Amino acid sequence: MQTKSLKLINEMSWQHQLTNAITDPKEFFERLKLPSELLPPAILASKSFALRVPEPYLDRMEPGNIKDPLLLQVLPLLAETQPVPGYVIDPLGEESTNHQPGIIHKYHGRVLLIISGGCAINCRYCFRRHFPYSDNQLGTEEWQQALDYLNRDHSISEVILSGGDPLAANDKRLNKMFQDLGAIPHLKRLRIHTRLPVVIPQRVNSALIEAIGQSNLQTVIVTHINHPNEIDTELASAISKLKQAGVTLLNQSVLLKDINDHSDTLAMLSEKLFEIGLLPYYLHLLDPVAGASHFNVDENTARYLAGSLCDRLPGYLVPKLVREQAGATAKVPLMPILGKEC
Ligand code: SF4
Repeated sequence: MQTKSLKLINEMSWQHQLTNAITDPKEFFERLKLPSELLPPAILASKSFALRVPEPYLDRMEPGNIKDPLLLQVLPLLAETQPVPGYVIDPLGEESTNHQPGIIHKYHGRVLLIISGGCAINCRYCFRRHFPYSDNQLGTEEWQQALDYLNRDHSISEVILSGGDPLAANDKRLNKMFQDLGAIPHLKRLRIHTRLPVVIPQRVNSALIEAIGQSNLQTVIVTHINHPNEIDTELASAISKLKQAGVTLLNQSVLLKDINDHSDTLAMLSEKLFEIGLLPYYLHLLDPVAGASHFNVDENTARYLAGSLCDRLPGYLVPKLVREQAGATAKVPLMPILGKEC
């Protein structure tokens, strides 16, 4: 949608974009010229998981197109409100690994910290859409407790900052956190999982680049991009800045029905990711979270799709197809099935 001037969007600070993301379904429907009969279900579904779409992301959608692959990722639907067997509140069993506020420790050598209670965008398929963020706030005291936890366990070499989106925290706070983490002798890497550079590319500002540059940990950023239409010149410029700062850049996607469940789409996504400096890393099967069953692509179809990518792309452009499983010691890899177009 090019009605909103890109120049104007670029002039707005990322915090302004974050605060002024569209959360009112009615306004969202008006802006995108969506059919009015879909509005009441959207209002109902957004009561349990709010609508949230920042302006730069909305600007990449096509008004009036109810099949737009970006729209489908954020549009609340009636299907979300209907319970489906097997789709649960905590599909990855994170509650049992949430040892203390803000900490999830499920894999060897890595600990996940939740440093933010929200995201810039609410993706309808999010496996943390029911996560108890309010019980996991890292105030000054809890942050110190998290550092004590990390200091005590010498097997931990990597800290992962994950959703709620860590880059929703302000630069001053991030800088302090990076410094505190860098002071722990056995930590080697800081990994940041984020969708913010994708949905508000202005987030990659000079203060963030400086904070990353001052950290003595190797920094890895894993973006979350599901469809080639999410990639535009603003995102490319943000990724280029991160690359120049020496960050290792990877992308993970979720396989989503009617959004990216076609080999042409996935192949184009890999090509476009690489063009802007991101290496395709993981292609996840949907986690069975309550409210998201309509996004599911079955395992066999996923394996054929992954096989089709193997058949047409160099190996470094093929993301690993994986499923997360509660209680498993790692993500479970799924074998691509070769030789069938799909
Ligand atoms: S954690 Fe990631 S997938 Fe979930 S709502 Fe936030 S940005 Fe979207």
